[in-house]
Amino acid sequence: MRKNIVAGNWKMNNDLSQTESLLADLKSQTKSSDAEVMVAPAFTNLYQANEALKSSSIEVIAQNMHFAENGAYTGEISASMLKSVGVKTVILGHSERREYFNETDASLAKKVDAALTNNLRIIFCFGEVLADRKSNTQEAIVESQISNALFHLDADAFKNIVLAYEPVWAIGTGETASPEQAQDMHAFIRKTLADKYGNDVANNTSILYGGSCKPGNAKEIFSKPDVDGGLIGGAALNADDFFAIVNAF
Ligand code: 13P
Repeated sequence: MRKNIVAGNWKMNNDLSQTESLLADLKSQTKSSDAEVMVAPAFTNLYQANEALKSSSIEVIAQNMHFAENGAYTGEISASMLKSVGVKTVILGHSERREYFNETDASLAKKVDAALTNNLRIIFCFGEVLADRKSNTQEAIVESQISNALFHLDADAFKNIVLAYEPVWAIGTGETASPEQAQDMHAFIRKTLADKYGNDVANNTSILYGGSCKPGNAKEIFSKPDVDGGLIGGAALNADDFFAIVNAF
């Protein structure tokens, strides 16, 4: 059966000392939860974060990686580099990567392959922009994002893939998808998976919601049957808020 997951995407926030202090806060508040809990600090702090959380149930994950194994890609980080500092899961396809760093479905398909070849689990992000929602094309957009980057894979690969639906218009804007909008899209995503791979893959794949998820709305969003957790931005930068969201399960 699929897992509930709450992952904090810290984005480009927190230097080393801020990272250590937030991790200490998180560690002191950790209690057993029905959800898997993850945090994604900056690349520069992954090693220390992993050391700091070694004895805790919180997993340290990465925000991105390059598709090549190594080579002349100045400023980039490979899957094996992530693994060498203890990372087992990587976020791919975040809308900020797509928007500011020109990531495309085609380049993401390559990253997906590289991550899986290296036995990394993937949190694969996608979601429509406001204009898509206004023109009621959000399902077609989401279907194309998923199928272009993932549907060359075999069913077995989905054991290592978590999906994260993040409507771009809800990220960092304070505007959240309503629980019904989230449920409708998550049900559509699960059906898209079922049509391609069958019910086993569809029912066993966790689908997270991301976009202005906060302590005040997490419980209602997570209560929807096809929402299996959240990818949290701003509210993950404060231990009290983050654990209020984790404890919404
Ligand atoms: P916010 O929770 O700040 O809207 O960010 C969501 C997000 O982009 C998580 O990856």
